[in-house]
Amino acid sequence: MQEIDLIVDLHKNSERQGPGSAEETLKALALTGLSKQQNIKVADIGCGSGGPTLSLAQNINGHLTAIDLFPDFLKVLDQRAHKLGLGEKISTLEHSMEDLPFAKNSFDLLWSEGAIYNIGFETGIKKWRDYLKPNAYLAVSEITWISNARPKEIEDYWLAVYPEIDVASNKISLLEQNGYTLKGYFYLNENSWSENYFQPLQAQFSAFLARNNHSELAQKIVLEQEEEISLYQKFKAYFSYGFYIAKKN
Ligand code: SAH
Repeated sequence: MQEIDLIVDLHKNSERQGPGSAEETLKALALTGLSKQQNIKVADIGCGSGGPTLSLAQNINGHLTAIDLFPDFLKVLDQRAHKLGLGEKISTLEHSMEDLPFAKNSFDLLWSEGAIYNIGFETGIKKWRDYLKPNAYLAVSEITWISNARPKEIEDYWLAVYPEIDVASNKISLLEQNGYTLKGYFYLNENSWSENYFQPLQAQFSAFLARNNHSELAQKIVLEQEEEISLYQKFKAYFSYGFYIAKKN
């Protein structure tokens, strides 16, 4: 297996593939005011196995298209949606977020938790704007510095992994420069990282290593994941996922 297949294999049995919580998904949805509207069209971009997708679908009136590059995640999402009686409300689409097959002015709400980094925040907010109807909403979570200064160790780590990491004020400026008005911002709490993401993931490590015969690559993936977890524990005062809710001008 290639590295990316192993990463999908490690993550596909989890309820979510990044930090977050149902409460925070609904808090962001409330900031759009769209939960009260009828018949809205929503897309969840980089949906993974559908943690946020399912919470959203349960709290909107309308239809949701859930997009991911990896069919293994979408298979799990389809099963989960079906079990919850949401099969009709959610369609899955295997596609890259880089060149989505949507017409201009198609959606009332574009959602993306912990995924826009795959093409970069600035590229994502620019490309996706076209698919929004006028006055429609974008809600994205993005890795963000939550203080203005930080230890060099964590700064170096993130600048190597994701150089676009920045403080919220700069992310908000980017939204403003690209045709959006900010409607709300908050950052994810610690439980969304530790209890909802890292702990369930750690619980998968031994089965993941066993089914992949403790291959060198599988061990490397677990080690990198453990590094990310220990850096979070050590430096959680300095970064989190910021949740940005913005309206298309
Ligand atoms: N939103 C989910 C998953 C976040 S992890 C959650 O919060 O749990 C990031 C997701 O982006 C993964 O599911 C990954 O498969 C997907 N992804 C990565 N690159 C992508 C691309 N180019 N296009 C679409 N999805 C992509």
